[in-house]
Amino acid sequence: MIKVRFHGRGGQGMKTSSRILGTAAFLSGFFVQDFPIYGAERRGAPVVAFTIISKEPILERGYIFDPNILLISDETLLLDKQTDPTKGMSKESIVFINSNKNEDYFKEKIGAKVIVEDLTKIALEVLGRPILSTLIAGVAAKLVGIEQKYLEEAVKEELEQIGANEEMIRKNILAATIGYNKVQEVKIEQTESLEPEVKVVEVEYNDPEISTPVISFVANSYLKKTGTWRVFKPIIKYQKCKSCRLCYVYCPESAIKWENNFPVIDYENCKGCLICVQECPLKAIEIVREGE
Ligand code: SF4
Ligand code: SF4
Repeated sequence: MIKVRFHGRGGQGMKTSSRILGTAAFLSGFFVQDFPIYGAERRGAPVVAFTIISKEPILERGYIFDPNILLISDETLLLDKQTDPTKGMSKESIVFINSNKNEDYFKEKIGAKVIVEDLTKIALEVLGRPILSTLIAGVAAKLVGIEQKYLEEAVKEELEQIGANEEMIRKNILAATIGYNKVQEVKIEQTESLEPEVKVVEVEYNDPEISTPVISFVANSYLKKTGTWRVFKPIIKYQKCKSCRLCYVYCPESAIKWENNFPVIDYENCKGCLICVQECPLKAIEIVREGE
């Protein structure tokens, strides 16, 4: 059995990565499970997804605590204590990190077998957008030893299901094969599937007032410093800005303040979703990749 855990941010395509890997493994003749976990839909928020691949029927269900392979699509997740993407890994685990830094930078911090590639750069070149789903799926498929033809078939199948057109499917198959050819297959110590302990859990009923999450304090989102989520940084070019306020209105984190009749970005809370860039009618907001 091989357990693969994907960590990423909302909007990067990790759920699709886990599905593509699952489909490719299924087409290769394995038993497979794949599923994601994420909270309220929020671009940039941490997302985790899983794929389990086995020659035997899979009896385990739930979160993968002891992954053989960890794929981290955004190095800023390593700074997030709540997400802690390396939790549960062993010395034998393989860790893949999408970053423009080198492997030595992460080896000391992580202390496991680390593979680093700058997939965001490839995504921008091939797809024109920092969507990593097919690139990461390609990396994962190679690491676990799936044949390339099944990967390509799985990309086509999964993207057709979400309504992608032929051109988009072609580009994503190309992205997946680039990811596939960036890494080498690794020997993974396979673990046997364990018989799960069968237990019926009685879930207590509570009134919605008690059982539903409630926001108790108003205007508290700024307490969560979402600036660490950012992969791309928006920078306002004031010589082009005409103070139309559209960026200020559209920013979903209220990270744009209005000062002296101009927008000012609060980088502690700007999560890098780039909605402001998309909405600015004068193209007055430029993008710079973090760390460059
Ligand atoms: S300032 Fe722009 S990039 Fe930052 S959170 Fe707001 S809309 Fe997104
Ligand atoms: S949307 Fe563009 S032009 Fe309008 S205030 Fe923002 S930066 Fe300035």
